[in-house]
Amino acid sequence: MLRTFLLNSCNELIEASIHYVNNDLKSLTNQKIPIQYEIQNAIKFNARSVFHQDQYSLIFYSEFFDRIYNAFNTLLYRENITFYQIISFGNEAYEENKAQLYLDILFDLACRLIINHELGHIFNGHLKFKKHHGQSPIMYMNEDQNDLSPLVSQALELNADAFAATRSIGVMTYESNIAKYNEIIPNLIKNKSHAFLLTVVAAVIVFSIQGLGRKRDKLDLQQLKYLPLRTRQDYYLRCAINAHQTMNSNEPLAFDIHFLREVVPNIEQYLNLYNHHALGFDADEYSNANNLDELSTVYLEHCDTLDSFWAQNMRERLKPFSYFPPA
Ligand SMILES: [Zn+2]
Repeated sequence: MLRTFLLNSCNELIEASIHYVNNDLKSLTNQKIPIQYEIQNAIKFNARSVFHQDQYSLIFYSEFFDRIYNAFNTLLYRENITFYQIISFGNEAYEENKAQLYLDILFDLACRLIINHELGHIFNGHLKFKKHHGQSPIMYMNEDQNDLSPLVSQALELNADAFAATRSIGVMTYESNIAKYNEIIPNLIKNKSHAFLLTVVAAVIVFSIQGLGRKRDKLDLQQLKYLPLRTRQDYYLRCAINAHQTMNSNEPLAFDIHFLREVVPNIEQYLNLYNHHALGFDADEYSNANNLDELSTVYLEHCDTLDSFWAQNMRERLKPFSYFPPA
C-alpha cells in the first residue's frame, strides 16, 4: 500500500498530466476528454488504459509508484555523491534540500513517463482504433496481453512513447517551470540541457526498473508485441531529442544521441547496483552489459522499419480516431 504522502502526490501527478494534455487539446480543438483514473493497491508493475462505454480510464498499480520512489530516494542519499553530482549538472557538493527537490523532480518525471504513455494510447486514438476493429479497447503496459499483431502493437507502443517523450520535454524545458524550481532554490536547474538531462535520467531509471539490464532470453523481434527495452529506450531518447529541438530551437542541446548512448549505461548502472545491494540480485543478473545486442544495427534498423510502417500504414488509419493530428 502506498504511503499517504506518495498517494497524494501520485494523484496530483496523474491529474496534472491529464490536465496538461487536455489544455493542449483545448487550444487546438476547443474540447477536453474526460478521463477517470484509479491507483489500485497491488504488487504489480503494470498499468493500462481502457475505453469502456464511452469512458476513458487509466489504472495504475501502487507498486509502480512505490518502486520508483524508493529507487530515487536511495540513489539520492548523501553517500551516493556521484549520482547527486550527475543530477546537479556540475559536480556540486551535496545539499540536503537540493537533493530533496531533485528527488521530487525525478519522481515527477519518471511517473509522468508512464502516465503520458498511457495518455498517448487515449489521445492518439489507439483505444478507439482497437474498438472500431472489434478488439478489446485496452492497452496494457506489460507484454503480450495486447491482442494486436506484433508489428501494429510495436508501432502503437512506439507512438505512445513518442507522445510521452514530447510531453515530458514540454513540461521540463518550459521556462516558467524551470523558473518555478529556481525560485525555490536558486540555480537548481542550470539551463535547458540540464532540464533535458533530468528527463533522461528519469527515463533511464524507469526503463531500468522494468528490466533494461536484466539478463533475458533473446526473442524473435518479429513476434514481440513490444520492442526490447534497450531498443525502446534508445527510441525514446531520440524522440526526446527531436522534441527538444522542435520546442527549444533557440537553445540547442549540449549533447546528441551518440553522447547519450555513452552516458546512459552509467546512469543505468546505479539502478543495477541498487538491485544488487538493496534487493539482493546477483551482479550479472542486472548489468548494463546485458542485452547490448538490442542496440545493434538490426534492432535500430527495425525502428526505422516501424517508422516507415507508421507513416505508410498506420498514420491514415489512426487519423479518424486520434484527437491530435497524428505525428
Ligand atoms: Zn503502451
